Amino acid sequence: MKYKPVIGLEVHVQLKTNSKLFCPCPSSATGSGDPPNTNICPVCTGQPGVLPVLNKRAVEMSIKTALALTCHINNISVFARKNYFYPDLPKNYQISQYEQPLAENGYLEINENPPNSPFDKGGIKRGIYHLSYYSQFSFSIRTIAYYQIKIHTA
Ligand SMILES: [Zn+2]
Repeated sequence: MKYKPVIGLEVHVQLKTNSKLFCPCPSSATGSGDPPNTNICPVCTGQPGVLPVLNKRAVEMSIKTALALTCHINNISVFARKNYFYPDLPKNYQISQYEQPLAENGYLEINENPPNSPFDKGGIKRGIYHLSYYSQFSFSIRTIAYYQIKIHTA
């Protein structure tokens, strides 16, 4: 029996928006340097009764990215609420996409040599399975001395 290795990469990016993906709090992508756990609100801390609102600028940036990667942009895109406990997820759920993402079936062409140079062999196309959103609530820092959760990401 022969095996053919298939290797996939899950690449995460943070859009450089002024506010977080689902609330008006300042995003850590702005580079403000604000201390952790200061740019939070009832939405991003998952208080009862709140409703997240998708950041319009993030959608615009995502669609531009999808077009650059020649992805098909879906007319309908669905978010899911994944409920689970994780130490740096005190609201116990994450908003993400999987079954109906923003965009899918694109590619990224990689050319290791400058185009039209003597070494140019043309680019290699690497498939893009899908582009989807997910909320990154916080991150944790673990050391021997302490365990800290920083809540101020996207
Ligand atoms: Zn917030």
